[in-house]
Amino acid sequence: MTVAVGTSFTFDNTYVRELEGLYQPWTAAPAPAPRLVALNEELAAELGLDAGALRSPEGVDVLVGNTVPGGAQPVAQVYSGHQFGNYSPRLGDGRALLLGELHDRSGNRRDLHLKGSGRTPFARGGDGKAPLGPMLREYVIGEAMHALGIPTTRALAVVATGEDVARDRLLPGAVLSRVASSHLRVGTFQYTAALGDPAQDDTALLRRLADHAIARHHPDAAAAANPYLTLFERVLDTQASLVARWMLVGFVHGVMNTDNMTISGETIDYGPCAFLDVYDPATVFSSIDEAGRYAFGNQPRVAQWNLARLAEALLPLIDTDQDAAVAAATEVLTSFQERYDRYWRDGMRAKLGLTGAPGRTDPLIDDLPALLAAQRVDFTAFHRSLSSAVRGDDAPMRSLLTDPSALDEWTSRWKAALATAGEPGAVADAMDRVNPVYIPRNQHVEEALTAATAGDTAPFERLLDVLAHPFDERPGLEAYAAPAPPEFGSYTTFCGT
Ligand code: AMP
Ligand code: MG
Repeated sequence: MTVAVGTSFTFDNTYVRELEGLYQPWTAAPAPAPRLVALNEELAAELGLDAGALRSPEGVDVLVGNTVPGGAQPVAQVYSGHQFGNYSPRLGDGRALLLGELHDRSGNRRDLHLKGSGRTPFARGGDGKAPLGPMLREYVIGEAMHALGIPTTRALAVVATGEDVARDRLLPGAVLSRVASSHLRVGTFQYTAALGDPAQDDTALLRRLADHAIARHHPDAAAAANPYLTLFERVLDTQASLVARWMLVGFVHGVMNTDNMTISGETIDYGPCAFLDVYDPATVFSSIDEAGRYAFGNQPRVAQWNLARLAEALLPLIDTDQDAAVAAATEVLTSFQERYDRYWRDGMRAKLGLTGAPGRTDPLIDDLPALLAAQRVDFTAFHRSLSSAVRGDDAPMRSLLTDPSALDEWTSRWKAALATAGEPGAVADAMDRVNPVYIPRNQHVEEALTAATAGDTAPFERLLDVLAHPFDERPGLEAYAAPAPPEFGSYTTFCGT
């Protein structure tokens, strides 16, 4: 059945029109008793959708996949991917559907996608379903990232289906509706490149995919001398910037497989992700990441590894002479480290209040991580405490350290550099705009998801509200700024969502 909600949905379907071979038309499994659990009114408004209409039974039926809104052409997208380094030639949306593309109020094309909407031809052994907790987790972490200014896909809504899904126990099922600037992944290119027959010089679909990606995300690349090499360079640059931003807030994605890395530069597929409290590059939260492949400190290296897989997929478009293509792609690929470093250093300079400081501040930045790791210091609280030190009060910073004197030498060098950085009040204020007070602390995320799974969404709503303004310290919210108490123990997240 096709319905219009409000008349507010105006879908376009360029992915379906331009990329036949990269999807299967499909419809969602019926949800027996849909119930709206969370609606992102701000995002709805951004998309020009009427929140009241989305809350109506007809709107909820659209958000859970029970009805196909007018103009939508639901498809399961196909892609492949390296999962923990091993290549899977055909993954694809096993439990998700692309409904179509909407234009937001700024004129940008945004995908509307359902996750947890039933088995598709790509489901392999999976049940196609999703439990409520992990879908709310994707919602809240995505909103936190957005408020932190980090490019991300976002949740429009979570609707409970009224059906239980079997995991280690029975859990309420749910569908997440997700908005992304696209769902093109490194794995989409890997899949498409593997389809082409090199002997036949059969790169037509790969070229269409690359042209689609250029038009959608990097339109200026079309006019470059080598548009496909330029596409690769743009994706590499946007990923270098994204991962630097993760590293600057202590975010661990947890499952950086090539199918979970976008061409747009948005963070996608929040599974076993979590934020650091104690600064330690070896931090791993995911229960299945036993070798620490996706540990916090490995993320830049893994991003570059994934981008090498993208480069391989693009080679036949970059140059018909394979050696020339490899040489050109390798040159771009090796620029990752320098670009990442620049993004990260610029970010660190802002976190330390040094953007106005002349001369080289790199040693201050380089020396800090080892000091923080040795002190087992809370990463977020430490950086936030620095603005108090700029305002003349070192106590908050010193209180976070097991041995405050270990940082004395670094602190005096830092203060010397700050002396030329600008007026202290203004410097401290600028630091407070980049060093968050509130991140999704693991104990609060768990508390919110546990309560919501049991039927109480109040802690989830409260957490969302706290995280919507991460830089503004508000009285009464001290608990949200604090790391997990020792009794919370070491935190493990699960991928089997
Ligand atoms: P992920 O790395 O969690 O983003 O997912 C890896 C692949 O597994 C994707 O192709 C998903 O569509 C698929 N998948 C994950 N969970 C399920 C499920 N419950 N049923 C079907 N497919 C799934
Ligand atoms: Mg995925």
